[in-house]
Amino acid sequence: MNNGIVYLVGAGPGDPSLITLRGVECLKKAEVVIYDYLANEQLLSHAPESAVRIYAGKIGGRHNQGQDEINNLLVEKGRAGKVVVRLKGGDPFVFGRGGEECEALREAGIPFEVVPGVTAAVGASAYSGIPLTHRDITASVAFVTGQEGKGKNESNIDWDRLSLGGGTVVFYMGITTLRHNMQRMIEHGRSPETPVALVRWATTDCQQVLVGTLADIADRADESGFKPPAITIVGEVVSLREKLKWFDKRSLCGKKIVVTRAAEQAGEFSAKLATRGATVLECPTIRLVEPESWQLLDLAIRELSGYDWLVLTSGNAVRYFFQRLDMLGLDARALGSCRICAVGPKTADEIRSHGIKPDLVPNDYKAEGVIDEFSRLDMHNNRVLFPRADKARDIIPRELKRMGAHVDSPVAYRNIFPDRLPPETLFALEKRSVDCITFTSSSTVQNLAAMLGEELLHDMLKGVAVASIGPITSKSCRDLGLRVDIEPKSHTLDALAEALEAHFG
Ligand code: SAH
Repeated sequence: MNNGIVYLVGAGPGDPSLITLRGVECLKKAEVVIYDYLANEQLLSHAPESAVRIYAGKIGGRHNQGQDEINNLLVEKGRAGKVVVRLKGGDPFVFGRGGEECEALREAGIPFEVVPGVTAAVGASAYSGIPLTHRDITASVAFVTGQEGKGKNESNIDWDRLSLGGGTVVFYMGITTLRHNMQRMIEHGRSPETPVALVRWATTDCQQVLVGTLADIADRADESGFKPPAITIVGEVVSLREKLKWFDKRSLCGKKIVVTRAAEQAGEFSAKLATRGATVLECPTIRLVEPESWQLLDLAIRELSGYDWLVLTSGNAVRYFFQRLDMLGLDARALGSCRICAVGPKTADEIRSHGIKPDLVPNDYKAEGVIDEFSRLDMHNNRVLFPRADKARDIIPRELKRMGAHVDSPVAYRNIFPDRLPPETLFALEKRSVDCITFTSSSTVQNLAAMLGEELLHDMLKGVAVASIGPITSKSCRDLGLRVDIEPKSHTLDALAEALEAHFG
């Protein structure tokens, strides 16, 4: 039986989180993905690695020819029994030629489904703070192609109604024909003073908004070199933007920030910065790998209930420790009455996710804080297990031993250098377009220096604000000759994000 089917999926306007759940579902089962210039490439990560990815922008030379070839490709893949996702910018049925693609599939007898998407006008409206309708201003909105009138004497557009009706008008593909279309609206009776907004790369980090009037927007666009892809919103509603804009008002909007962390853990911090409007460039300087031998940790785990304390000083230590416990066929019950100390609230949360409440979390979230808490207890003859990174400082075992405790500190994971830095991050640093670099542990800055060499490090970070999570990381920065511009009072990722906000706000 032939199971071939084609899903025409709207990718949304740009922000990759604006695709629908249904769209993601289709991508997850795709065997072939045929995607457009305007569909955000990040969405391809939803498709299985084995899926064939075909960029439709490369198919054919001229636009029309290209469309026939795309139609043929959809039919061919569907006939071959493939699950095909045709991923299209915005909505497939709004100026997307999705109708033509469905007609071709229908004719060939290939089943298809259409998944709607947030069309550019709607995305641009939301992210520029311009409601397309408003009870007190206008009750209608029209989506119009800006290309229609080009080179034609006859127009299918009813310019009289569009101009005199008073409704909001949104032009797609209308930047090269901007002057012509604005002129046309004035000729057909819309006031030259009507506000107009151009929104380019709407809903993405690169979103640009230019505001003017029917009379002057074309000049303004020429002066600022405004380029496609953009939509043009015409109508009184545009004036609401001053009051309602939010996307380009966020505290870190327009800031380019390099996040240096282990690749496995960059996501959470990056997301915190991105929701504040920053463009985040990830720059993993640490790769976490297993210890060279599990022998010592395994030995400790087998005698776990004989320990009085388990001390965990990072989320990584928690993850590697519990993974190993699991590998040995054990679970949290193996801890018996052993008490647990977490270095800070994040590590504590990670421990709670294994169904265990930490007994001790110091107020000062670092090794010194842990020591401070233990110094209030009688640690004499206590047995302490401290699973740690290979390059961890030895203050905890040293000080606990001084208090009379017996400490085992097996290596639970190692920090090694990644093979290389991501090219887009290096490129941005070389171009001097970066505003800030963040270091969240000593090894992040030490590894970066080792990978680049100190001279290149200094050169690349000229004019870039350095943010460090706390005094120990700051000291490592200073030891390498870097000036620290931002350091939060409490040493958490949330506090670091807030300190960045305060610095740039
Ligand atoms: N099917 C798409 C439109 C395709 S036509 C949709 O529903 O959005 C291509 C035009 O859409 C571009 O020329 C531009 O006018 C507009 N467009 C698409 N994505 C855009 C974006 N992120 N920002 C501004 N305009 C966009």
